[in-house]
Amino acid sequence: MKKKGILSVVSGFSGSGKGTIMKELLKNYKDQYALSISATTRKPRVGEVEGREYFFKTPEEFESMIENNQLIEYACYVGNYYGTPRAYVEEMLEKGKDVILEIEIQGALKVKEKFPDTLLLFISPPSAEVLKERLIGRGTEDMDTINKRLSRAFEESLGVENYDYFVINDDLATCVKEVHSLIQNEKSRASRNINYINHIREELKGFSKGE
Ligand code: 5GP
Repeated sequence: MKKKGILSVVSGFSGSGKGTIMKELLKNYKDQYALSISATTRKPRVGEVEGREYFFKTPEEFESMIENNQLIEYACYVGNYYGTPRAYVEEMLEKGKDVILEIEIQGALKVKEKFPDTLLLFISPPSAEVLKERLIGRGTEDMDTINKRLSRAFEESLGVENYDYFVINDDLATCVKEVHSLIQNEKSRASRNINYINHIREELKGFSKGE
């Protein structure tokens, strides 16, 4: 019986280190996971490559993706659109891969509404001070954008209770293992194994008739 993969959403404040965690997860367990690449209208940062970090779109291109139902969800974040292309996610789940969406909270809640068995994980830095230091330290945004991202982090903190798990990213390797275990353990949940349960039940029924 081939099983569909688990759909997980990983969110976290900008600077929580979730991008690095995703890279490590894919490196360590590369046959297990598929990371969805989002479309965005944000400009590429230095070093970002089209089709690797994002599919970079003009607002017009993005709006036409919305109209053509090519996105599972989309949201506006600090002045730009971000969205999850549908086709890749559906194809990978069918193949049995565990698909990860690294998206912000509004999108996460929309995905959960559409696909209620989505696993929602929230990654947090150990403290707000560490978050600010990481954002400044990576040097990819100006101070105005950093401040906007920090106030967005406060807004996002108000919705964290909607997530299934809250993981603190203090030590990278420990955090990666924890995220991996949470996703893999989810496979044993009884409600995700209804087909198996029904199958075994049918077989048992056959035995019990003979009694
Ligand atoms: P960044 O500009 O730092 O790459 O991403 C900004 C925020 O947008 C992050 O919280 C990231 O998780 C989120 N994001 C990236 N892709 C998507 C997407 O497809 N949909 C939604 N809703 N958020 C996304």
